[in-house]
Amino acid sequence: MNCTQVTTTLQAYLDGQTDEVTTRPMAAHLQDCHHCGLEADTYRKIKDALACRAQPDTGAADRLRGFAKGLLRRADRTPPHQAPGD
Ligand SMILES: [Zn+2]
Repeated sequence: MNCTQVTTTLQAYLDGQTDEVTTRPMAAHLQDCHHCGLEADTYRKIKDALACRAQPDTGAADRLRGFAKGLLRRADRTPPHQAPGD
């Protein structure tokens, strides 16, 4: 397996979506090749960071949904052409 093949398959490999035929040479290459090993490390860190953020993000999504609902309600109450006092 060469660096190009590793790069194109790396995401699937880290997601555990590759079969044994791919996984084995991939793991060997990542150990031997500094460049690809570094790239795999970076992907792993990004994945970990995203996984850590998954929890607080659900709260943020709820807040955003509430905010959007509030905006819609305000838009319903405001007459489209004439504001009161005009
Ligand atoms: Zn490589």
